[in-house]
Amino acid sequence: MSEIRSVAVVGAGTMGLGIAQVFAQAGFVTTLFDLKAELVEKALAAIRKNLEGAVEKNKLTAAERDRTLSCLATVKGTHELKADLILEAVVEDLKVKQRLFSNIEAVNSPQTIFATNTSSLSVTAIASALVNPGNCVGLHFFNPAHIMKLVEVISGERTRPGLTDEMVSLVQRLGKIPVVAKDSPGFIVNRVARHFYLESLKLLEEGKSEMAGIDKLMRASGFKLGPFELMDLIGIDTNLAVTKAVYHGFNSAARFKPSSIQEEKVRLGQLGRKTGKGFYEYPKS
Ligand code: NAD
Repeated sequence: MSEIRSVAVVGAGTMGLGIAQVFAQAGFVTTLFDLKAELVEKALAAIRKNLEGAVEKNKLTAAERDRTLSCLATVKGTHELKADLILEAVVEDLKVKQRLFSNIEAVNSPQTIFATNTSSLSVTAIASALVNPGNCVGLHFFNPAHIMKLVEVISGERTRPGLTDEMVSLVQRLGKIPVVAKDSPGFIVNRVARHFYLESLKLLEEGKSEMAGIDKLMRASGFKLGPFELMDLIGIDTNLAVTKAVYHGFNSAARFKPSSIQEEKVRLGQLGRKTGKGFYEYPKS
């Protein structure tokens, strides 16, 4: 059983910031890093805002807020990323994730655990870049990570025996609900959810309905957000990358074919909330 005291979260985008908050709130010494330094600053500001909001709603005490903030640190380069658990939340790209883990493994102990927040890529393939692939596991948080309870825990083919159980306990310690999933494209949630997005995009493409109407109906039928609102929250680039990974993972099965509407949005840099415009517009707050 590994003793985890320190955690390094790599990638301070949509997911990394929420994941760092969750670990810091649970008392882990948490380091946050991103290739773009300005995104780390933006992430810290967002975490402060989240914590402040929680204090105002009496969900957190001022002392807990301060303790959480005191658990957070930042570093300037990957060579400084030394921790008991490294969790990557960088772009959904196999080569980027493999290169990153391989670089960080070189400066860490052979016991360090490498967790990937991938939504759809093979944990086995990501682990293959490590000298010790047995230390690699999938920990798939959902968006927004500081609120959503579910975490998929995924073992790769070479994940060492016992690591999945350790991660299940860790997720519970974070106050989250672990669900063990097999290492297959999109795991459970993202495989099922492809149709929520893709069928909605097809309705739009075929001119059978319009965006706001689809969102309104899906909300009325019980979903918290409609598909276009949700794609804007996720990030259209990330959502498209996940669809492509699932599509390739299932040998280009037509049911997972990526939508040209999403390709166009990504080409235009209209990625959703994170860029201020996606399917909808988001004025700066
Ligand atoms: P994002 O685009 O918001 O953030 C990714 C961040 O990674 C960027 O800030 C980028 O600068 C940084 N980055 C890229 N390469 C890096 C490197 N080599 N070293 C350090 N930083 C690097 O992406 P996201 O939506 O947060 O997704 C991150 C991961 O989480 C992906 O694997 C994605 O599939 C997964 N995920 C996303 C969601 C979601 O709703 N967005 C939900 C669950 C899982």
